[in-house]
Amino acid sequence: MEVRILGAHQTETGEARPTSLLIDGLLAIDAGSLCSGLELPDQVRLKAVLVTHHHYDHVKDLPMIGLNLAYRGCLEVYGTGVLFETLSTHLLDGQLYPNLLEWPPGRPSLRSHRIEEYRPFDAAGYSVLAVPVPHSVPAVGFQVTSPGGRRLFFTGDTGGGLSPCWEHVAPDLLITEMTFVGEMQDRARQKGHLSPPQLAAELAGFRQAKGYLPRVVLVHLDQAREAEVAAEVAGIARELEASITLGREGMTVNV
Ligand SMILES: [Zn+2]
Ligand SMILES: [Zn+2]
Repeated sequence: MEVRILGAHQTETGEARPTSLLIDGLLAIDAGSLCSGLELPDQVRLKAVLVTHHHYDHVKDLPMIGLNLAYRGCLEVYGTGVLFETLSTHLLDGQLYPNLLEWPPGRPSLRSHRIEEYRPFDAAGYSVLAVPVPHSVPAVGFQVTSPGGRRLFFTGDTGGGLSPCWEHVAPDLLITEMTFVGEMQDRARQKGHLSPPQLAAELAGFRQAKGYLPRVVLVHLDQAREAEVAAEVAGIARELEASITLGREGMTVNV
């Protein structure tokens, strides 16, 4: 399973893109950079996208990829009921943008699939499990299992308190978020995000529960504070004797 990071940041600049992961060119997780990170033939080749929650940086490119695919193809979109309700009333609402979940008529560009937490489903040939994570709005993480049995768990945006998740997943690769630097950990707690001290506690909890630590890659980075985060994360990796890497746009990880 090849995991390519299309977007590793919270926002967009000339060099940084919002969160999107691409698995084997077929299955994406989150839509922060499905257009800005993929040329048109690769957008058409994409079969499905799993969306963790409705915050703008995770759904940003759904309208544009929907328009690119109109009369050309269809992208299967998997998310919770809350996600699709919010998209229909706030983004694909016929005012800001056409409702591509229903247009073109009879053959919409984006086909919605409402998922249920803890109930496995298939997407683009992969087995997927959605697990709720603590965030400021309803959000899920996804464990994706390849036909060969390799597993990725992507938390999406999350705060601390992931121990209930660990009971349901056993990833070979863990991709999670790192939104704030350590001195901002109070704000991270308020907003439902992670900072380095919280990550250290969550990974220690994972190891205690599972008896191992997978390779860890961090996304949802703040480009302006990246050097500070990198230094803090390097300290955690040493302390835990773990492989923890900051993600970057274009980075590929083979699982
Ligand atoms: Zn969020
Ligand atoms: Zn976000």
